[in-house]
Amino acid sequence: MAAALIDGKAIAAQVRAEVAAGVAEWVAAGHRPPGLATVLVGEDAASAVYVGTKQRTSAEVGIRGFDHRLAADTPEAEVRALIERLNADPEVAGILLQLPTPPHIDGSALSGEISPEKDVDGLTAVSAGRLVKGAPGLRPCTPAGVMELLRRHDVVLEGAEAVVLGRSELVGKPVASLLLAANATVTTCHSRTRDLPEVCRRADVLVAAVGRARMVRADWVKPGATVIDVGTNRTEAGLAGDVDFDAVREVAGLITPVPGGVGPMTVAMLLRNTLTAASLAAS
Ligand code: NAP
Repeated sequence: MAAALIDGKAIAAQVRAEVAAGVAEWVAAGHRPPGLATVLVGEDAASAVYVGTKQRTSAEVGIRGFDHRLAADTPEAEVRALIERLNADPEVAGILLQLPTPPHIDGSALSGEISPEKDVDGLTAVSAGRLVKGAPGLRPCTPAGVMELLRRHDVVLEGAEAVVLGRSELVGKPVASLLLAANATVTTCHSRTRDLPEVCRRADVLVAAVGRARMVRADWVKPGATVIDVGTNRTEAGLAGDVDFDAVREVAGLITPVPGGVGPMTVAMLLRNTLTAASLAAS
């Protein structure tokens, strides 16, 4: 029997509706609306689209947007000064520096200057450290989205064998930490892992985040497993995940499609992080 689909679009819409209700309640309690500041340096077309989507969806849930667009030749010191101002601004609950930045700006170092309490991308060293230590903090959006999909489908993680394909700071490592925190037995794989198919076949929950179109084959998957495909690869045939969806669907129990699986969750979790940041700042 073909696997059931995890509808990320529908779940992301639910999360956005919950955030909208949370924001309305927050404002009704006398607080200022949570503010999300985005900082975009330069004219990269894809980045401009991402920032536009984040601002538009924020507005839809009642989050106030502060959309900072700086010329490509803006000196690094000026971007740093803006981040310092936003760190100190009580109207701003969350700050996001859109990457990549132009070559003369060290985007990763500058992101690190965002206050951990406003780090709604959850990617700074402090946020990563809090995650690994199991301390409260803002979690990275795509990994948090993966966990939300699993939670809404009541996927049992306690004691489960989870295999994460990929060890990036953005996806693989934080997903592995979150699964570990949920009491799964976690194996992280990467380009030097020996006998990848064999390791993957152990997984009750398999999360693929490698950036290789359709790499995970049907015979890598344990019958009935839950398969979460984070990959978004542009191919001649269109957008493809890291999982050979049509074949794997015949083996897995539950699976995310691409598009329409993990992708829509990322912005939804960003909105949730912004509301969380606002309430943490006030507590
Ligand atoms: P990344 O930084 O390139 O990391 C890829 C990881 O996969 C690395 O750890 C790499 O191993 C491993 N890998 C690459 N080729 C492999 C192979 N043949 N066998 C085993 N492991 C291999 O990528 P990322 O940023 O984590 O992104 C992964 C995918 O998720 C991409 O398709 C990206 O577009 C997508 N993504 C989607 C969203 C979303 O919102 N849906 C968000 C972020 C990313 P090494 O460490 O050994 O090099």
